[in-house]
Amino acid sequence: MAKLDTPWKGYIPPFRVWGNLYFVGTSFVSNHLIDTGDGLILMDSGYAETLYLVMDNIHRLGFDVHDIKYIVHSHGHIDHIAGTKALVELTGAKTFLGRGDLDYVTGTRDLTWARELDMSFTQTFVPDVLLDDGDEIRLGNTCIKCIHTPGHTEGTMSFVFDVTDGSRTLTAGTFGGVGMNSLKREFLLRYDLPLSLQQDFIRAIERLRAEHVDICFGNHPETVDTEGKGARILAGETDAFVDATAWSAFLDRREEVINRLISKEQAENNN
Ligand SMILES: [Zn+2]
Repeated sequence: MAKLDTPWKGYIPPFRVWGNLYFVGTSFVSNHLIDTGDGLILMDSGYAETLYLVMDNIHRLGFDVHDIKYIVHSHGHIDHIAGTKALVELTGAKTFLGRGDLDYVTGTRDLTWARELDMSFTQTFVPDVLLDDGDEIRLGNTCIKCIHTPGHTEGTMSFVFDVTDGSRTLTAGTFGGVGMNSLKREFLLRYDLPLSLQQDFIRAIERLRAEHVDICFGNHPETVDTEGKGARILAGETDAFVDATAWSAFLDRREEVINRLISKEQAENNN
């Protein structure tokens, strides 16, 4: 669990993932930055407690926080959204979120996972744009394809987009919500969420298999070994994230985990 009373212990040196995509997050949660040539897109704002680290990382990479034009959220849990309100006040950035998670970030429903972390979510906001499946977010040289992948939350969005390095173009992709915490039957029942989210998650995995992704980057470092790959990149291996097999392997692992959860819960219910 995140040690948010000592956020600096989650420091990870920022680095260029590949091309115009950068990692600016912490060991608790990933934040990514896209340099579109016409402003910056920040993917997830993280915890409020780690926002100063994210801002410092952006600065260390030579960018100006004030150039953030869009903040695009993977889903409405506190570890991905709580820095947004302050950043919007500073930058005037436009915010994007999957339609199904609107009530999470406005505080209408207590679903941000704050209670589970013994925290309170006070940094509520109303997104400028509610995303639906198939939407595109365009800025500068970047066009992000938005794929609705419910399960982890009702409005989880996954993103696929091209990144460029000189004359080379590759496709980057992120699955917007992969943890089993909010897919457990007990959690779904407690918050009056549909049990069908477990099956939605399996359908989301199948949906994402259709995407070609060269660079699989996650929204939590541990799921894609962000720290290890970042260290390799900082040591000079610029293509550490480039692996055309990583996306399907990542989806395979997610499918194993959800199937294990469902089997375990079915066994428990039969006892
Ligand atoms: Zn989450």
